Amino acid sequence: MGLAAKNKITGEIIYIYECADPRSELKKDELECHLCGGELIIKAGFTRIKHFAHKPNSPCSCDYDRHPESYEHLFFKRLLASEIGKEYREYLGAKPRLEYPIHEVKRIADIVFEFPNGWLVAHEVQLSSITIEDLENRTNDYRNAGIDIIWWLGKSADTRKNREWLFENYGECYTLDWKAVNKNTAKDD
Ligand SMILES: [Zn+2]
Repeated sequence: MGLAAKNKITGEIIYIYECADPRSELKKDELECHLCGGELIIKAGFTRIKHFAHKPNSPCSCDYDRHPESYEHLFFKRLLASEIGKEYREYLGAKPRLEYPIHEVKRIADIVFEFPNGWLVAHEVQLSSITIEDLENRTNDYRNAGIDIIWWLGKSADTRKNREWLFENYGECYTLDWKAVNKNTAKDD
């Protein structure tokens, strides 16, 4: 499940949170998964985080390494995409691209900010537990593809060991507190 989809006809990437009413604004026949071209459905209740999903019996057929996404994950991706530009001056002119495929290393970055001069910086939301080895591998993969990366740790990924390692090796890491920012959003599908 995700926040991005592609318009088959125009090739445009669409972010569902930019649509006030996605079922009336988006045409079913014109939408496809931006990664595999598969058919999508819209999942949106009245308060849940709206998102696109493949049918349960035909999951995304791209074999890229995606970590499983919870509602918290979708929430934070959207939050970072909209807030980083307001919070950090250097990001003012940068465009957030969500669920950005990095073909060289077959990975999907949560958000890649595209700067006007062509620089790319990924922001990864990591909520499920992750080893230092995986943090390092993913960072190296992104950097080998020419993309710098900033980590945001939350929930099970936010361990002292991971924080310390990121600080020691990359000089920074940030944390996300689901309970602090989200008191009202239902998170059950
Ligand atoms: Zn797909």
